[in-house]
Amino acid sequence: RVEIAGVHKSYAAGPVLSDVSLTVEPGEVLALIGPSGSGKSTLLRAINHLETIDAGSITIDGDYIGYERRGDRLHELPEKRVLQRRTRVGMVFQNFNLFPHLTALENVIEAPLALGRSSRADAVARARELLASVGLADRAEHYPRQLSGGQQQRVAIARALALDPDVLLFDEPTSALDPELVGEVLAVIQRLAHHGTTLVIVTHEIAFAASVADRVAFLDGGRLLEVGPPERVLRDPEHPRTREFLEKVL
Ligand code: ATP
Ligand code: MG
Repeated sequence: RVEIAGVHKSYAAGPVLSDVSLTVEPGEVLALIGPSGSGKSTLLRAINHLETIDAGSITIDGDYIGYERRGDRLHELPEKRVLQRRTRVGMVFQNFNLFPHLTALENVIEAPLALGRSSRADAVARARELLASVGLADRAEHYPRQLSGGQQQRVAIARALALDPDVLLFDEPTSALDPELVGEVLAVIQRLAHHGTTLVIVTHEIAFAASVADRVAFLDGGRLLEVGPPERVLRDPEHPRTREFLEKVL
């Protein structure tokens, strides 16, 4: 379970996250929505310790990614331990971020091998399974430039799954895709949701959020204004800002 408690974060220009608290239970699918600049990516990156926070805490099953508690004080962990712990969180980005010089298969086995998690043969076998599960069994030897955006994003999802993360974070996974390729990526995410993978998805696809999410969280100006089941937050929001946002995007 991901526990976000009282998180604050500011840049020079001002606060970006203000007192954000949110818990994501195992197997839960949480959709994070909100206007541009509201802090969605910052919050997602903070879960993975790709971004530090100024106050509050974020833990995965009780553990910090970037810190260790000794007595009542937090100590920063060395980079190597951070990398180890970060493997508990998978991340899929808007622009796929595949290694361009590696094939689909090589992209998927890179992290497990770099971390010494498994033998090459085991990593390859698992990667082939994962690629098959996202419908790319026949694209394993292709390089990213030989794949469509939707295929590249599905490779990125397989790669994120290769380390068996406790939670998978998606930052607008379909917003760089041509409209006709959005469906194939959403279908893969939908399948993960049905299989009980814990997911946090930043998305502008409100209809998708409504169909896949257990809860929807609305972030505005760095504040979490409401969190609840999609049928309430999306159909009957409590907060006028949520209402206003939904009227614009729907
Ligand atoms: P979008 O929907 O456009 O992706 P977002 O909700 O993901 O927006 P963030 O990217 O989290 O928003 O940005 C939140 C705010 O923090 C914005 O005002 C942004 O300009 C600011 N910000 C983000 N990263 C940095 C940075 N590295 N330095 C300074 N300000 C930043
Ligand atoms: Mg963003």
